Amino acid sequence: MADCKLLKTCIFFSDRMVGMPKTADMVKEKYCQGDNSECARHMVFIACGREKVPSDLFPGQIEKARDILANKK
Ligand code: SF4
Repeated sequence: MADCKLLKTCIFFSDRMVGMPKTADMVKEKYCQGDNSECARHMVFIACGREKVPSDLFPGQIEKARDILANKK
């Protein structure tokens, strides 16, 4: 599976994963280099655009992503 096209610029890793390199690697393997359609951040990006992706949204927070998508205008 192709890397997520946001991987190089995804602020999640420069913001929320600082000091947690092992967790960051696990997330990258599962979502960014795996099935990024399962990533909550990617879901919001595709539907609403980069500026609507909350900085504190974790890739596994699918329910939170669905709430954002349900409330988008
Ligand atoms: S966390 Fe999600 S949006 Fe960010 S690079 Fe990985 S798959 Fe893409």
